Amino acid sequence: MRVDAAIWIREFAALVDAHAEELTALDAAVGDADHGTNMRRGLAAAVAALDDSTPATPAEMYKQTAMALIRGIGGASGPLYGTFFLRFGTAIDSGSGTADFARAFRAGLEGVIARGKAEPGDKTMVDALAPAADALDEQVAAGTSGPDALDAAVAAAETGRDATTPLIARKGRASYLGERSAGHRDPGATSAVLLVRAARRALR
Ligand SMILES: [Mg+2]
Repeated sequence: MRVDAAIWIREFAALVDAHAEELTALDAAVGDADHGTNMRRGLAAAVAALDDSTPATPAEMYKQTAMALIRGIGGASGPLYGTFFLRFGTAIDSGSGTADFARAFRAGLEGVIARGKAEPGDKTMVDALAPAADALDEQVAAGTSGPDALDAAVAAAETGRDATTPLIARKGRASYLGERSAGHRDPGATSAVLLVRAARRALR
């Protein structure tokens, strides 16, 4: 049982498309009201690239996706999601089990942290991705695999996302608001949950 690369990307695009208005509304409260539009445009470009040519290996597919997202999303989120997929793709190599997925997911998270210089609690996408990575590691250590491990990752990401609401943003445009950023759920953590949910849907 593995997360299929092409299905993951397509499911992420579908979820972003379905939640684009919500993402933009969240960004309107703390940023510049473009997160949904930007994410939708970037993922549409990633899907178009897949439709155009399907790379031979998952690593190449993730790299192609990363480039489409970096070019297509723009702002801060493009390079961050691009870095996630670049690092994930390099780390997953030819691995296919839940442990491989967990290891590659953490590599992706570490890429995002290195790129964005955000830590857990800064009210960013890291607040959803880090708990998901921790949950995956715990599930793997407990011998759980497949759907149950991914379900735990989704639940952890959602809990992390919801925990961003009372936080004061310390990174990104929302940080300009200072204390006024509190009381709003973070758009990046919200789209990051969709990334994890898409992976769950891509289990084959
Ligand atoms: Mg924005």
